[in-house]
Amino acid sequence: MNVEALAEELRALLGEAAVSTDLAARERASIDGARLSPVISEQLPLGLADIVAYPPSSELIAATVAAAVRHGVPITPRGKGTGNYGQAIPFEGGLVLDTSRARKILEVGDGYLVAEAGATLVSIELAAGKANQQVLMYPSTANSTIGGFVSGGSGGTGSIKHGMLHEDFVLALDVVHAVPDATLLHLEGKDTEPYIHNYGTAGIIATVTVALEPLQDWRAFYASFDTFEQALSVIRPFADLEPTPRLVSADLPTLAEALPANPAIPAGRASLRAILDAESLEAATALVEGAGGRVEDVREGAQESMKLSMMSYNHPIEWLQKAYPNTYFHVEVAGDALVDRIDEVHAVYPGGMLHIEAQKGRPIGMLAGTYTTADDVWAGFEKLAALGVGFHNPHQWFVDYEPERTAELAKTTDPENLLNPGKLQAKPAVATGSQV
Ligand SMILES: Cc1cc2nc3c(=O)[nH]c(=O)nc-3n(C[C@H](O)[C@H](O)[C@H](O)COP(=O)(O)OP(=O)(O)OC[C@H]3O[C@@H](n4cnc5c(N)ncnc54)[C@H](O)[C@@H]3O)c2cc1C
Repeated sequence: MNVEALAEELRALLGEAAVSTDLAARERASIDGARLSPVISEQLPLGLADIVAYPPSSELIAATVAAAVRHGVPITPRGKGTGNYGQAIPFEGGLVLDTSRARKILEVGDGYLVAEAGATLVSIELAAGKANQQVLMYPSTANSTIGGFVSGGSGGTGSIKHGMLHEDFVLALDVVHAVPDATLLHLEGKDTEPYIHNYGTAGIIATVTVALEPLQDWRAFYASFDTFEQALSVIRPFADLEPTPRLVSADLPTLAEALPANPAIPAGRASLRAILDAESLEAATALVEGAGGRVEDVREGAQESMKLSMMSYNHPIEWLQKAYPNTYFHVEVAGDALVDRIDEVHAVYPGGMLHIEAQKGRPIGMLAGTYTTADDVWAGFEKLAALGVGFHNPHQWFVDYEPERTAELAKTTDPENLLNPGKLQAKPAVATGSQV
């Protein structure tokens, strides 16, 4: 690889301010949210970029990829670096291609929005809102990029109704292959599928067209209960409310207390938080009161919904780790046993605590436990399986969604193995579990 020649070419192409070889910039571009995993944290640092480029448009993303390929330099794409398995770490150095300046919303139409890869989900939701529409889902890290979400995420606010991001979320993509004359390649519908959730190992995403739906009147709903079991008892009924909620999360008192201070999350009580259509508030209140709980607050406005989103999925775990440093790890889990066999689920790991999210079909969640060794984490997987709990291992960085299909595609789209090296292998070395 010839990094110096690449740096010179990129400076001419993108301008001085869009290319950096400073150590501080390279270090910032070489870490993601992997610190959420104590197993991965023990192995850091896992790589250091030689050069970072910030192309400001989809076309210049393509030109940057082409230049890196011509100089034989590995390319690790990056959005906001919030992915939590180390997938955005440049294991073999080379170029980190930071897309966060290619962030234009290009078009908002009836039922769709076109954005450059570096557009944040917040900006996409705001742009959709101005056209009386909403995005089908966004991750709890709503400030992350659409390219990073499509390449490394799985679901979030809106998933109760719309499932995970493989399911009709992406309408079209412009992708860039790792070839010397790389340009934008436009794909639609099913053709986009092989580029989703594989960390950019088969192609870099430059533009995304996502589906929109009509805007709803959402409310941020806070309730509390004496016990977590009471909160759990309404998780499935909440998923069945009509219109379907956008998010329903619940936590044990210890997890709830670790969240940012909020009068609607009282100390010592289990917390249930939901983003509800205004039409379902009465039915939701009846469910809470019927289970012995009380409604703490109902708040209006997009910002209040966004705030509630930022206390969902992995965020309670992150807050727990801030409150109790170097103590907890987590496993992503799914299934009815999370409600029906909660004591056994908690007993899988010492200090076991479940954060749960309602979904249509089966609840999902994050099972926190006290961290000892990686082997103890793996040992719990068998116990989870015996309880009928689906799990996903968030302590490894290999592509684990359709890895064989990606490897086959990458033979032609990345013949020199330059795209995000080290993330793609047919059989991951450690258990990955099922997708949750
Ligand atoms: C506390 C916490 C909560 C989270 N909650 C959620 C959640 O609710 N739902 C969820 O799905 N995820 C969640 N995540 C994971 C992550 O934040 C999201 O998936 C996020 O959308 C990733 O976007 P990003 O811009 O930070 O991507 P990055 O972390 O920068 O990248 C993610 C992966 O995609 C690759 N990539 C980035 N951009 C491109 C591109 N343009 N083309 C090809 N490949 C690319 C990177 O190389 C990397 O492998 C959470 C993480 C944390 C730490």
